[in-house]
Amino acid sequence: MADLNLTKQAANDELAQLRETLNKYREAYYTQDAPLVEDSEYDQQYNRLLAIEQEYPDLVTPDSPSQLVGDSVDPEFNKVTHDIPMLSMGDVFSEDELAEWSKRIEKNIGQEADYNVELKIDGLAISLVYENGVLVQGSTRGNGTIGENVTENLKTVESIPKKLPRPLSFEVRGECFMNKSEFVRLNNERQAKGQQVFANPRNAAAGSLRQLDPKITAHRKLNTFMYTIVTFDDLNVSTQHEALQTLEELGFNVNPTAKVTTGLKGVKEYIEHYGELRDGLDYGIDGVVLKVNDLARQQQLGNTVKVPRWEIAYKFPPETSETVVKSIEWTI
Ligand code: NAD
Repeated sequence: MADLNLTKQAANDELAQLRETLNKYREAYYTQDAPLVEDSEYDQQYNRLLAIEQEYPDLVTPDSPSQLVGDSVDPEFNKVTHDIPMLSMGDVFSEDELAEWSKRIEKNIGQEADYNVELKIDGLAISLVYENGVLVQGSTRGNGTIGENVTENLKTVESIPKKLPRPLSFEVRGECFMNKSEFVRLNNERQAKGQQVFANPRNAAAGSLRQLDPKITAHRKLNTFMYTIVTFDDLNVSTQHEALQTLEELGFNVNPTAKVTTGLKGVKEYIEHYGELRDGLDYGIDGVVLKVNDLARQQQLGNTVKVPRWEIAYKFPPETSETVVKSIEWTI
């Protein structure tokens, strides 16, 4: 653990300051869909908070962002309870940190792990519930336990099947996002009408899904990539990779880039490859996700109060001025 060289009093004061600032940023980001700062700035301050809390665990308070998933739920929406919480995800910013995480996993399960490596899609998490093959409920992650019921809005999203080819009763989860091309179209339209433009596709997606009038959502053309099957009762699925294949067979939109690796072999290439391709994709990604592939092992590893232990996000470095220039190409 890094020695921060802080007295307890100084740590207490700094934590209070960080909590206040970060919770203000979170409110703007999650509730208003209008971020006050770049994600990299948020991440930097959040990681400082984590480092201090790690040194002084007794200074962790229930309102610390390290204990909270997402933010409050808009009271205008009906509520949905997530019986199995929709959690956040741990993140690392370097290959060394990734290797440390993987070492911990392998120590825990006693052998080299297989990982399913996926892109981290920059949108917002959604849950879809099917009964006898029919979509009956769609919701946002909300605070992880209570989400917003946005069923009618999600029914307007073309890539979401309203009826499955099999009469399954289950819940699936994934990411709702806005393609960069649609973001450009929408912002141009808003600019022409003198309306405020969205800061980025992620905020445009969140603002478009969390609408009280589904007709507005329908006009915004949202998209999805689904990646989690929550209940496997009727499905012959034992790994994350098989879950993705099954989702695809059932008609869901699944990101095509996922691959299985043994240990971290090939992960560096995947990270470099998609780090380079990133700006040319028509959807935002902010990193790469590693998931222990075996679902029984996932269960064994379990979750902390905020994140699953069996998955981690490797976050891409913040965009440089060169990549910002490249991504501006989407706006002309
Ligand atoms: P997160 O977005 O970093 O990670 C968890 C989420 O990743 C999941 O809920 C899911 O929606 C998503 N995800 C995308 N692809 C996935 C895949 N293949 N498999 C599984 N999940 C996938 O965590 P978070 O707690 O929702 O948010 C933290 C992030 O939000 C940070 O990156 C932070 O920078 C940003 N944030 C920014 C501000 C700001 O002011 N700019 C404020 C708060 C949070």
